[in-house]
Amino acid sequence: MDSVYFDNAATTAVDERVMEEMLPYFNRHFGNADSPHQLGRASKVAIEDARELIAELIGAEPSEVIFTSGGTESDNTALKGVVAATRKTEVITSPVEHHAVIHPAESLKMQGVKVIYLEPGRDGIIHPEQVAEAITEDTAIVSLMHVNNELGSVNPIKEIAEICHERRVPFHSDTVQSVGKIPVNVKELGMDALSISGHKIYGPKGVGVLYVKNGTPWIPWLQGGSQERRRRGGTSNVTGIVGLASALRFAVDEMNDHQKHFEVLRKEMLEGLSLHFEGRYQINGPKTGGVPHILNIGFITPDQKGLDGEMLLLNLDIDGICVSNGSACTSGATEPSHVLKGIGVPDEIANSSIRISFGKQNTVEEVRLFVDKLEKILDRMMAAAI
Ligand code: PMP
Repeated sequence: MDSVYFDNAATTAVDERVMEEMLPYFNRHFGNADSPHQLGRASKVAIEDARELIAELIGAEPSEVIFTSGGTESDNTALKGVVAATRKTEVITSPVEHHAVIHPAESLKMQGVKVIYLEPGRDGIIHPEQVAEAITEDTAIVSLMHVNNELGSVNPIKEIAEICHERRVPFHSDTVQSVGKIPVNVKELGMDALSISGHKIYGPKGVGVLYVKNGTPWIPWLQGGSQERRRRGGTSNVTGIVGLASALRFAVDEMNDHQKHFEVLRKEMLEGLSLHFEGRYQINGPKTGGVPHILNIGFITPDQKGLDGEMLLLNLDIDGICVSNGSACTSGATEPSHVLKGIGVPDEIANSSIRISFGKQNTVEEVRLFVDKLEKILDRMMAAAI
């Protein structure tokens, strides 16, 4: 067996069918979509077809779909763009958002904007009442993610959107980890802006969507050419856009099958964990109600201490297993994940945590192999830790 890839929330392999649809746009239909000749027109048509398809898949109007370079750009644009247009001075978000939201929020803070971080529970969820309480006349935007990339928790987006609408505040949601995985329809859920990334759904990297509901106040962030109706300058990434639309179509069409498959993998994993590691692990984030393909586990020694998560990851890697960990290496030092910190996981356990994220290609055999290898590694590490 080749390596086992359980890091699908970080990125996914491009689906072969998607690649095939992209290929002609590298060197046959390579025209600049803004060129007035036939090659340019062919690219333009491909982009507009992709826009229509994506709009249909998320319940939007084509004019509300703006192509970007990915989730990070979409998140940055939504926050900074709405604050700039409304000239209001408050942003409401949470400490467990992706850095693509937290860092622009922090940079707005430096410009005098007040950032309110709503506190999630241990399950990572923000409740609508917290939003209702925090909104003031100065609130420019509320930005709360749909599915958390580290915990798999699912925020009650529809209820949060309703409150934002009642109070006439634009609501942005980072849906990078939910679109194509669970149903996302902007009309049903009611968000005013959302972010999508191609590479989380078996599409290419470096391409994404910012959906902005018509009528929402915002100012474009990347200025330059007149692409995307002057809302995002830069020569259009035709190949990427074609790939993103194709990937989203497959993801939505096959969503039910994938969900069922992930439930099976999760059940196998949870059974394996409780059988082999009883009392030596904890689940970080929601115990129920989260998405089935993301699981965050912290390991605990018999004397209730954490383990060296870096070492755990390295050992798994040596055995051909790719997962991600509960810490990030910032300026050479290992820092516990801000998300685990944000839900109150002690630093020691956060540093001893791993995130397993399944993809459609994973199998039950891989889960069994993982549990088997993990048991040997943990036995070794725990013996050394005593
Ligand atoms: N938001 C979330 C929730 C993510 O998981 C990611 C990717 N890790 C991003 C935003 C950033 O997306 P991209 O890599 O396309 O910039």
